[in-house]
Amino acid sequence: MTTATATSTRIFNFAPGPAVLPEQCLKQAQQDIWNIADSGIGVLEHSHRGSVIKKVFEEAEADCRKVANISDDYAVIFQQGGSTLQFAMCPMNFLTPDKTADYLHTGAWSKKAIREAKLFGNVHLAYDGTGDNFDHIPGPDEINYSANPEYVYYCDNNTIFGTEWSAPPQTDHLLVADMCSNMFSRPIDINRHAVLFASGQKNLGPSGGTLVIIRKDFLEKANADLPVMLDYQTQVDKGSMLNTPPVFAVYFMGLVFKWILANGGLKGMAKRNDEKAKLIYDAIDGSDFYQAVARPDSRSRMNVTFRTPNEDLDAKFVAEALENDLSGLKGHRSVGGLRASLYNALPMDGAKALAQFMADFAQKNG
Ligand code: PMP
Repeated sequence: MTTATATSTRIFNFAPGPAVLPEQCLKQAQQDIWNIADSGIGVLEHSHRGSVIKKVFEEAEADCRKVANISDDYAVIFQQGGSTLQFAMCPMNFLTPDKTADYLHTGAWSKKAIREAKLFGNVHLAYDGTGDNFDHIPGPDEINYSANPEYVYYCDNNTIFGTEWSAPPQTDHLLVADMCSNMFSRPIDINRHAVLFASGQKNLGPSGGTLVIIRKDFLEKANADLPVMLDYQTQVDKGSMLNTPPVFAVYFMGLVFKWILANGGLKGMAKRNDEKAKLIYDAIDGSDFYQAVARPDSRSRMNVTFRTPNEDLDAKFVAEALENDLSGLKGHRSVGGLRASLYNALPMDGAKALAQFMADFAQKNG
């Protein structure tokens, strides 16, 4: 049996989400649930209108801006409803039946976003990866943009298939990015985007809170007369406190932002994430036993998808990995096989332990 760290009984968690969180943040949260900022009251029990939680929100926003170098041209808000609600909120705010947005269809999550957008406006499929079973990210020659889209939508990391854009799509139009599963895992060019969003549960914190970054001059074009909860402008005006917000999720995101800043910022995250992913892809490429699911030029650093020679061995791999304190490695039901999620908070030792286990398993079963 391996142990995840010398100091704890926790095991390595490769789940796609909810997923591993930084140990320091979990320990801080344990204390703050009991008594935050010496107030004698825990973070879960404070009014969101009081000074303690007000400060929590202000710090979370300020640290978020520092992490990604987000200028005053952008609003930063914390929402409920997950990334799935953003699939609808974005077209609801920015499309009408006579307007078109371009969507780059790279997998199960973009499919859901496209469905929602069609409820509010026209969707031009600038790329459709269905025929290739979403095994890659399109190159510029595979993409056909429409004449004048309101925005170009892409999913930066396809959690299920294990593909990831190495850089944002090349277009002069403003982008909308689903960064649910790779937000803050590497430096981001915020300024090419109209909207970026990511729910908690992967790199950012627990589920229940969603980070949305919106360009203010784009927001000026938003539709009026929307239900207030679904109106970006109202949410921005109310400082994410239109109604009772998901206080704990935002509090925890704030801890994660501080953790990122203390650990080399986005460059530090990127370096460690590249190293961890390389360990696992090398273990796949270095053996005839494993087969990668995604095309090599499109591989995700966050979700590594692969297979053993057959489904029985996939199941045996998952079971024996768990006996070795390596959890959450079963592939998504639509893809099958195996998936190792290597989010920011997964320690390097976790990736090393998995690579070693993969080598041992291939030797015994190959
Ligand atoms: N987009 C992507 C890329 C995802 O991985 C997920 C969740 N796994 C979602 C959207 C949906 O997120 P939520 O469940 O928070 O709505």
